[in-house]
Amino acid sequence: MKTLNVVVWNEYLHETKNDKVAAIYPKGIHQAVADGIKKLRPEIEVGTATMQEPEHGLSQERLAQTDVLLWWGHMGHDKVEDRIVDRVQARVLQGMGLIVLHSGHFSKIFKRLMGTSCALKWREANEKERIWVCNPGHPIAAGLPEYFELPQEEMYGEPFGIPAPEEQVFISWFAGGEVFRSGCCWRRGNGKIFYFQPGHETYPTYHDANIQRVIANAVAWAAPQGSWEAVMEAPCAKNPPENLPEK
Ligand code: ZN
Repeated sequence: MKTLNVVVWNEYLHETKNDKVAAIYPKGIHQAVADGIKKLRPEIEVGTATMQEPEHGLSQERLAQTDVLLWWGHMGHDKVEDRIVDRVQARVLQGMGLIVLHSGHFSKIFKRLMGTSCALKWREANEKERIWVCNPGHPIAAGLPEYFELPQEEMYGEPFGIPAPEEQVFISWFAGGEVFRSGCCWRRGNGKIFYFQPGHETYPTYHDANIQRVIANAVAWAAPQGSWEAVMEAPCAKNPPENLPEK
């Protein structure tokens, strides 16, 4: 079986500007997420990319070899170059999986693929979050209890400005009373997309075993299926209009 190539992308700004975040994620959020995947799925090839690298670490060549891309961004959304967003979108339509984490709900790539506001309610008050599995048979929920808790997370609340998810895997409750569709699946073209809400930078969320399980499951779920490579050739290039049979 072909080795799955995964890239964890991070804007990598909070960790370099805020000591509290740097203490939780000394090698960056991207490395913590990558380490969690590698721990549970050692057979997967996991690399990282950050906004500071040339082409944000997402060259055409690298994206062409990427099966699943994970995305963490927050304060740098506007600094992501549109040509890179175009490139990522094209790869998702071809079949690359995309997992959008936490504040990535407002990233250019997620808003582009959803086509809606992606707005939500939020509050940073060190609240407990209880994440309920609402689709126990879904592969992203494999091996999880019926619910699990994070002692502290940022509250994200409804209404969440997304198109109706094609599959709903998790729904979260916060100590302040709000609920949120915290794990949602869509397809765009041949690509699978999963949004997962936990992961505020000032909490050790990506060190949590259940969160790592969800992300590793989501990577396997989002892997391209079937002969998606064939889609990379534009069909009209082979059959230009002049070659069509006359009516
Ligand atoms: Zn946050």
